[in-house]
Amino acid sequence: MDTKTSPASEQAAPQPYRYRRRTLIEPDWRRLPGWADVTEEEWRSAQWQRAHCVKNLAQLRTVLGDLVDEAFYADLERDQAAHATMSMLLPPQMLNTMVQEGAAPGRAYTDALYDDPIRRYMLPVASDRRDDWPSHPYAQRDSLHEAEMWAVQGLTHRYPTKVLAELLSTCPQYCGHCTRMDLVGNSTPQVDKLRLTGKPADRHEAMLDYLRRTPEVRDVVVSGGDVANLPWPRLESFVAALLGIENIRDIRLATKALMGLPQHWLQDEVRAGMTRLAHTARERGVQLAIHTHVNAAASVTPLVAEAAAAMLDAGVRDVRNQGVLLRGVNDSVEGLLDLCFSLLDEAQILPYYFYMCDMIPGSEHWRLAVWEAQELQHGIMGYLPGFATPRVVCDVPYVGKRWVHQVAGYDRVRGISYWTKNYRTGIETSDPEALRRRYPYHDPIYTLPETGRSWWHEQARTVAV
Ligand code: SF4
Repeated sequence: MDTKTSPASEQAAPQPYRYRRRTLIEPDWRRLPGWADVTEEEWRSAQWQRAHCVKNLAQLRTVLGDLVDEAFYADLERDQAAHATMSMLLPPQMLNTMVQEGAAPGRAYTDALYDDPIRRYMLPVASDRRDDWPSHPYAQRDSLHEAEMWAVQGLTHRYPTKVLAELLSTCPQYCGHCTRMDLVGNSTPQVDKLRLTGKPADRHEAMLDYLRRTPEVRDVVVSGGDVANLPWPRLESFVAALLGIENIRDIRLATKALMGLPQHWLQDEVRAGMTRLAHTARERGVQLAIHTHVNAAASVTPLVAEAAAAMLDAGVRDVRNQGVLLRGVNDSVEGLLDLCFSLLDEAQILPYYFYMCDMIPGSEHWRLAVWEAQELQHGIMGYLPGFATPRVVCDVPYVGKRWVHQVAGYDRVRGISYWTKNYRTGIETSDPEALRRRYPYHDPIYTLPETGRSWWHEQARTVAV
């Protein structure tokens, strides 16, 4: 190319990603037949949102009516009966972010709903699932073995200095790919859920007691489920008790509801209570933060930004996002960067992690291969500030979160990656091999070359995998 004679505009190659500010939009819920008369006041009410969650096909029909073809409802019904690991639970706020631009009733609307990134993981249908390998042969209900690592019921002690406290097993919304499908939500025809036993107050006290006598733990992820489903006084008293334990320096409250039901976090009682907790945390030099779970830019609406701002105003140190990489939802550099910039620029939410979808049953159509995750990590580098560039991580069974470029070995033909670790989990204190072992993780089989796919077919035929 003759650079001396070409105009500048012809010489400049476009950047792979072009940054632009995105104006947040609260889609008008009145475009949906079932909510045509819902007022702004009702929409902003957490009670109204909870009372009008969509839990079954009949309720979905009431909202969408004839916008959608019968074939879609039948597809959804088949999934609920034969595949779903999570029951249906969609707050109006989340359903309203699907097909935001609208479409003509019938085929066009149905196609737009099928293609919608939020629909793909919140309302899975049977035709989404793979026929060849719907589940990986090594998929497991509790794929991260969290219950195996419970120090006391609901308290997973996997890392040396931090624990996960599962205070409850429900959420205001149920995600199709939920990694805690073993425990969280109602049983489905496919999955009889594990149940927490005993009184919640006794379980929570046992957790606090463990933390008081385990001074090496400094960091508690308070989760579930979703803490938004805990009555506020109970959550406040648990967090206040944590703040009274000298060794606890970091507390993170896990709530997808900040996005799925922001109305919850905007209630007066919750804002006042969070202000009290944040004030005590500051006095004691403890970092109190909120971690949420947003997977698509379309989910970031003005109400979500308002809820995040309310929590920052209350005094929490940060609101951070932990998304999940899902095929068809956010598996492109553009999709991830659009989401990260919407969170950071428009809602003051810090992009923190993107997890690879875990190896639970029925998740193969959502999961990405490690090499795909590495490409996405590479693709998003350099656009966001370093402090807001999320790490793409693989949560490796019996290991924990590893940055996807930390892989220690990788058989690309069979799709088996190998990982190492530098600490013992709570169940390996006497295992001499724990730090020398290489721990496997598996790519979806359909992403493998033909020789790899044949190998897995042969394994399935001859060996019980
Ligand atoms: S909000 Fe989190 S815990 Fe609840 S269903 Fe979704 S992924 Fe699972």
